[in-house]
Amino acid sequence: MTTYWACLYCVMERGLRGDEIPDLPLAGDTQAIAHHIESVHHIPVVRDGETLEEARARFAKEQPEAADPATCRCPQCVRERAKQNWQ
Ligand SMILES: [Zn+2]
Ligand SMILES: [Zn+2]
Repeated sequence: MTTYWACLYCVMERGLRGDEIPDLPLAGDTQAIAHHIESVHHIPVVRDGETLEEARARFAKEQPEAADPATCRCPQCVRERAKQNWQ
């Protein structure tokens, strides 16, 4: 049986169980998990050998949409936009 990593953000935002989410990394694949969190949820992850500043700089370059609250997909921005849709 293949075990996928259960992403808490996917679970919270989409109400899905881990095995219902497509393209999830395999459990234990820390590189793929870090990539998922950064590219899908726009949350910088400090990789092995990186400082916090290096991680922030790399993230800003790789995920330019995260700099704009209108296109950022981090949980906080997603929540803010959802709130505005109800006003
Ligand atoms: Zn996720
Ligand atoms: Zn954001």
